Amino acid sequence: RAKDEGRNGFRYYSEELTARAFERVLLESSLHRALERDEFELFYQPQLDLVSGELRGLEALVRWRHPEMGLVPPDKFIPLAEESGIIVAMGEWILERACTQMRSWQHAGVIDEAVLISVNLSPKQFDQHALSEMVDGTLSRTGLAPAGLELEITESTMMRSIERTGHVLGALRELGVKVAIDDFGTGYSSLAHLKRLPLTKLKIDKSFVSDIPGDLNDVAIAKAIIALASSLSLEVLAEGVETREQQDFLTREGCHTGQGYLFSRPLEVAALERFLLTLHRLV
Ligand code: C2E
Ligand code: MG
Ligand code: MG
Ligand code: MG
Repeated sequence: RAKDEGRNGFRYYSEELTARAFERVLLESSLHRALERDEFELFYQPQLDLVSGELRGLEALVRWRHPEMGLVPPDKFIPLAEESGIIVAMGEWILERACTQMRSWQHAGVIDEAVLISVNLSPKQFDQHALSEMVDGTLSRTGLAPAGLELEITESTMMRSIERTGHVLGALRELGVKVAIDDFGTGYSSLAHLKRLPLTKLKIDKSFVSDIPGDLNDVAIAKAIIALASSLSLEVLAEGVETREQQDFLTREGCHTGQGYLFSRPLEVAALERFLLTLHRLV
């Protein structure tokens, strides 16, 4: 009897696997099609000076405008795009779109050239051996100045192979592009490596921002990251700023740039342009 159950259990398991593999293939091919049909769209979230309220940057965040499902958030498709390798083509599209959009805002005079465009890079993209050539080509084609582009990588991307990371970051920095560490504090960075790598910014992960100033552990972590950035001469930005108290705390502690729902959610192009008008009206 136990044996039967075992056999049934096994059969059930393998059917389950097959179904999941099937779903995966379906989703993968629909991601390919979505790219061909131009169904991906970039939203932009403002990054502001927490003291003056001036615009410092925009983070490009991808969404999938699915014909039936509507707007699909990145958490639902980026992991699979990453696993299947589609992220490389998708990532090139994202970079090109973000740079083109930024250049067009600069031309229209709605955004100052000192404002950065931040683009997330996935680990697979970072492994592409011609990454800096791809970035260089995109900058030339779109006409965006290298100093106007910031690439965001995560700690795990950075820490996988330190030799390679040093090489890739060196090539990107040589182009004049900036490099930020995203979700900082959630991974396992080595301080020695942080010091050695040519980085420009640490982005404090929103999980450490959401419970300040009430949670003393998060307060300690946020303060430590701000101090670390300062001693390494890196810029620092807080993600997920949702309250005035968080803004005040960060400002007091020396973190003068932030992004979050307190100021704006990620916005589609037309909505972002309206947001910029309200900013201009403030000055
Ligand atoms: P991320 O790069 O850390 O992006 C920040 C995420 O925090 C965004 O979620 C943003 O909407 C959200 N966020 C911003 N302010 C607040 C806030 O005040 N409170 C809260 N609770 N959340 C806030 P989103 O757009 O859903 O993106 C999720 C993740 O997907 C990103 O995290 C990034 O890892 C990935 N992703 C998004 N776009 C791209 C892309 O173009 N390429 C790659 N490779 N990954 C992307
Ligand atoms: Mg990011
Ligand atoms: Mg982040
Ligand atoms: Mg994240």
